[in-house]
Amino acid sequence: MNVFPDILPMSSWLPVVSPPFVIAGPCSAESEEQVLSTARELAKIPQVRVFRAGLWKPRTRPSSFEGVGKRGLQWLAKVKAETGLLTTVEVANPRHVEEALSHGIDILWIGARTVVNPFSIQEISEVLQGVDIAVMVKNPLNPDIKIWIGALERLNQAGIRKLIAVHRGFSFFAHTPYRNSPMWEIPIELKRLYPELPVLVDPSHICGETSLLFPVAQKALDLEMDGLMIEAHIRPEEALTDKEQQITPENLKMLISSLVIREEYGTIEFENKLEELRSEIDKLDEELIDILGRRMKIVEDIGKYKKENNITILQLKRWSQIIRDRVDTGVRIGLSREFLLKLLETLHEESIQRQTEVMNRNH
Ligand code: PEP
Ligand code: MN
Repeated sequence: MNVFPDILPMSSWLPVVSPPFVIAGPCSAESEEQVLSTARELAKIPQVRVFRAGLWKPRTRPSSFEGVGKRGLQWLAKVKAETGLLTTVEVANPRHVEEALSHGIDILWIGARTVVNPFSIQEISEVLQGVDIAVMVKNPLNPDIKIWIGALERLNQAGIRKLIAVHRGFSFFAHTPYRNSPMWEIPIELKRLYPELPVLVDPSHICGETSLLFPVAQKALDLEMDGLMIEAHIRPEEALTDKEQQITPENLKMLISSLVIREEYGTIEFENKLEELRSEIDKLDEELIDILGRRMKIVEDIGKYKKENNITILQLKRWSQIIRDRVDTGVRIGLSREFLLKLLETLHEESIQRQTEVMNRNH
């Protein structure tokens, strides 16, 4: 079933003049001077078509800077009048929507913390009923594609036909180099399910710092995503929010000009499939390492137990039985005998080493 029957292609309402399509601007609007001087520089970059700035900031703790609120809307109106850039702000409730609409904001965006709540999305959709405006929907913090789709669907059912999904990475328990793990398989799946839905990538919130922005932006383009949203600030070191991940307009310009746009078509299916398979491998490797860690922990416990009971470390009968058993099982599922023996040998060596350490501890 096509859940987005009447979504408009982005090219029909926001033609890309100079690819890639880029939305840029500070994480937060902080002052009129900061907003306007950032926008003036960004407007010189042909790929930047839309100026972003957060006015109502969702913060983890109440004492943090929570945004300038609606007075920033006038600054954005000036940006539009002076530079010709379109403007976009984050909205989290019907009041934000009404204020943004009354100040001529071109595109609304719904943030990762709001998307998770269907009540909020429903309320926002209700005030948007019958309004001709573009809405971008960021993915929720947790890696659940259904929540993302559900929010897009609610807005579409309220009559929003200019819809865009924005991939900004997901909270993930394991340690990764990213602030929010990209889990590319999720935006790829979204594209596979709804090829008509434009998907932008927000490298700033994926990376959380500036050194990884380029490879993530390049990857987004290689995966045929429809554009980028990147945080830029005239003086990043003074930013009141997301200081580490913002770049100057000048650095953004360099970043964009280093990006390679693939010309050849027909490879994207291959890339997507490869990416899917690779992320499966990543997950399995993580599990493998976790299992090995757990195995070694038990090996140590056995070592302690043997020590308390004065039993030797190496017990040949047990070891021969393990080899026979594991090789049989492995061969049955198509692994080679030689590989299995090498693997078991390595495991055994490390286990003996661990137990020896336990034995030698003098307590
Ligand atoms: C932002 O774009 O500044 C923002 C708060 O994003 P997210 O909702 O993705 O965290
Ligand atoms: Mn931000």
